[in-house]
Amino acid sequence: MINALIRQEVRGRGVHNVTMSNVYVKKGNYCAMSHSLPPTEDCPSIEALDKLNIAALVYRCGERITLEGANHSARTLLNHFAPFEEEEPWQWCPDEEGHHPAHYWHLDEEASGQGQAPRVRWLRFNDSGRRMALGLTGCRLKDDGKTRRVMMVLQDCTQQIVQHEELRRSQERISSIINATPMGICVLTEDGRFEMVNPAYCRFHGYEEHELIGRPFSVVVPYSSHQYLRRQQPGALDSRHGHTRQFGECELVARSGERHTVIVESVRIEGEDGRPRDVVFLVDISERKTLETALEEKNVRLEYLATHDELTGIRNRRFGVSSLEAALEQAERQGMDISVALLDIDHFKRVNDDYGHTVGDQVLQQFAEVLSRQLRAGDILVRWGGEEFMLILPGIDPGGALQALERLRQSLSMEYLSPRGLQITFSAGIVNARGMNSNDLVEGMDQKLYQAKGRGRDRIVT
Ligand code: GH3
Ligand code: MG
Ligand code: MG
Repeated sequence: MINALIRQEVRGRGVHNVTMSNVYVKKGNYCAMSHSLPPTEDCPSIEALDKLNIAALVYRCGERITLEGANHSARTLLNHFAPFEEEEPWQWCPDEEGHHPAHYWHLDEEASGQGQAPRVRWLRFNDSGRRMALGLTGCRLKDDGKTRRVMMVLQDCTQQIVQHEELRRSQERISSIINATPMGICVLTEDGRFEMVNPAYCRFHGYEEHELIGRPFSVVVPYSSHQYLRRQQPGALDSRHGHTRQFGECELVARSGERHTVIVESVRIEGEDGRPRDVVFLVDISERKTLETALEEKNVRLEYLATHDELTGIRNRRFGVSSLEAALEQAERQGMDISVALLDIDHFKRVNDDYGHTVGDQVLQQFAEVLSRQLRAGDILVRWGGEEFMLILPGIDPGGALQALERLRQSLSMEYLSPRGLQITFSAGIVNARGMNSNDLVEGMDQKLYQAKGRGRDRIVT
């Protein structure tokens, strides 16, 4: 390249002064001319390089490598216009072998005279300590047999190198973040194949990186979701870049077959080849999902316990009280009939005494079952406490309630409860609840129940 440039310059303007540091081209080779050598028509001076704003240094290479000359472009570039002392006014940062940069072209016959790809070396100025990155191209100059000289062409590439290093550092930072993040990240090609996966992504699926690269994303998606996935593939989407799409929750399957619930989000970017890519971010929420499910189940259980009687499974007194209030209010609002009954198993203490508490429990459970079977959808059966039950019958007048309870009494008379096959009866008091408050109502039912007991049990008083 330099040869071509110089030749072009030679054709343009010829050759002038000869100084110690002048450089000439002769028959396609560089040669350094000493004072004694006269200029020839086809030898351009180092100023020819100046004309092209090419900075060049000439080194004398013997046991030591010493700077012999610099053209104006080099002096300007290096900001050094004073004569050169014995030592260079700057220091070349050593290469791996610790050599001066001119050493390369001094020794290498092959490199000599050829336009070599620039090698970059840092230079530090002795006075200011400032650093400069220089791209160097050089060649050995044709010598007179006594003195070897090397010419180096300099190009300031400090900015590019600094930018390149900054870019490299920032890429390293980004890579270390991507590698350390607990979030799974992968890049998919247009046809939905893995182009890049981070360690968290590999860990998540139980694959090594090389096992995923190039494979379709569908390998980590359960078969049931493939149809869904096809619709979501990059190629199937509009090509606006930076377009963010929230997949939301979905299920992915690990190598072990284990399924994970994940939140997936993808961002469309443009790849280096100009084709679209999807960067997919994935957060495993399986654990959170399991906890949420457990919590939901617990809440359902707590809700159940708060409103149901544990032994019989029917509504408990707490629920009964609020239901009673609500039913009374509704009946009042709609001008509806409402009847409420209090039922008490007769001589239940004897069951416990004769057959034990466990049998007593079984009898209570089955008693509740028999009653529940007979009820309409709107009726509410409540375990009021012990062997006492409350029955709320919205829309039913006391006559209808009496009929309903008689039916219950009849049904019960045909039941044999517990493994012991026991037969039991109940007494009940029915109150027309329309317009009553719950306290008066309960008191009224109690009195009627007491009457039923007093009249010999196994009967209903209205
Ligand atoms: P009455 O006909 O006058 O109602 O006589 P009773 O024996 O049914 O009435 P009492 O109030 O004397 O006895 C009720 C019994 O019910 C006493 C108690 O031990 C029993 N009981 C209450 N709750 C439970 C329970 O959850 N399980 C069992 N097995 N027994 C219970
Ligand atoms: Mg009782
Ligand atoms: Mg009783």
